[in-house]
Amino acid sequence: MFLTHGLNAYDELVPVEAVPSGRTSLQCPYCRRSLIARKGRVKGWHFAHDGETCREVAQDNDRITVPFYDRFDVGLSRRTFETLTAVRAGTYGNPKTLEQLGYVEYNQFARGGLGEWQLTTIGRIPFGEATLSAFADFQRERIAQKHAQLMDAIDMAARYDHLDHATAVIDLRLYRAQLARLLSCSLYLMEVTTGDGRALYKIGMTGRTAVERAAEVQAAVRPYLGDVQIRPLRVLAGRGLVERYALHRWRDSQHQVGSMGEFFQLEDRRRLLAEFTRLGDLDPNELEASIINQQDATAVSWNKMEEQALNNHSDLWQRLADGDTNGNLYTS
Ligand SMILES: [Zn+2]
Repeated sequence: MFLTHGLNAYDELVPVEAVPSGRTSLQCPYCRRSLIARKGRVKGWHFAHDGETCREVAQDNDRITVPFYDRFDVGLSRRTFETLTAVRAGTYGNPKTLEQLGYVEYNQFARGGLGEWQLTTIGRIPFGEATLSAFADFQRERIAQKHAQLMDAIDMAARYDHLDHATAVIDLRLYRAQLARLLSCSLYLMEVTTGDGRALYKIGMTGRTAVERAAEVQAAVRPYLGDVQIRPLRVLAGRGLVERYALHRWRDSQHQVGSMGEFFQLEDRRRLLAEFTRLGDLDPNELEASIINQQDATAVSWNKMEEQALNNHSDLWQRLADGDTNGNLYTS
């Protein structure tokens, strides 16, 4: 897995973005070994172990990866993807398997009543063809599902000795820490106007204000574009989770500036603006609010476990209330 947070001396998870590259005073949350911040250009920023990587981090799985954050072909085999591409092109007869997986649906009203197979939101995502708001709604569901799975894993580990409870708790903490960072960032769209009147657009996310970020962008592009005017067109609070998908959606209009790839040259900017407007600021649901406000998983998971324990034993509470004190309360 990609370790994006390390533990400080106060048992707080610190994101790799918050520390300089190289040796740190942070520890791996799983094994407590020292961590080195790797902030290269090719691989995403992450922490490496100073010494041997522990088993929990070495495992090559996505058990704490934020769903659909920076990978948009999740769950698709090469063959499935080829079939999906054929359905999209209208050249595939009967994609039953894709329908079962939820990637396509039959629209009997399409083509003037002749009907046709169409891609669903998840089917459109690999092609960047779902709108920002459709994507955000879909991603929100998947994030909640994964959160529930990680909570269940803690619950299971508490019941069965052969499962590692500490690891399950750290998994949830790390998952929530990643989400906390992304939910605290704004998604922005800026217009960059060059001296000769050309307009470029920049999509990105920032944990600071758009004005601060605009000044940085201005300095970064000066060697390539000269003095430019920068105007934030949209700044959407709490929408950091959607940034990578927005870059994916408009990748065909991408315009490289130096080594920076988040610039776009557009014939028609109205659709882009309309989608940002439609997406709007995040209106946090209960789970998102708990992540933003607490920024710590352990408290929530324990409260939830107590709640679940109460729920699981509700029949016992009832029996107690009914005066049945013979049942063994602590066996289940
Ligand atoms: Zn470790």
